[in-house]
Amino acid sequence: MIHQTEQHTQLVVDIIGTLNLRFKKLNLYYEAAWTDSFCHRRCMHEHPTLLEAARCAMPHGAGWYVLAVENGTPRQLLGDEEDVVNKFRFGKLSAESDLWNP
Ligand SMILES: [Zn+2]
Repeated sequence: MIHQTEQHTQLVVDIIGTLNLRFKKLNLYYEAAWTDSFCHRRCMHEHPTLLEAARCAMPHGAGWYVLAVENGTPRQLLGDEEDVVNKFRFGKLSAESDLWNP
């Protein structure tokens, strides 16, 4: 009986984990952002990948960055995401490569 309960709990954890993953995917996108005469601008697109947002941001000059929008709320990039953008910024990642964002 105890064993069954554990299995059931594990199943629930799996389902919730999967839902969270999907939910996260659906509610996360990236926006290009840059400063223009000390004003913060955002491109207002919903870019599915970091690199797409970076490509969108780059023509706006050196002060560009990428921000993540999660459930409609902008947030700073996480360490891993920042790494991808920096690699792109410093030319270590080709503009055509989306390998970092499967
Ligand atoms: Zn954009």
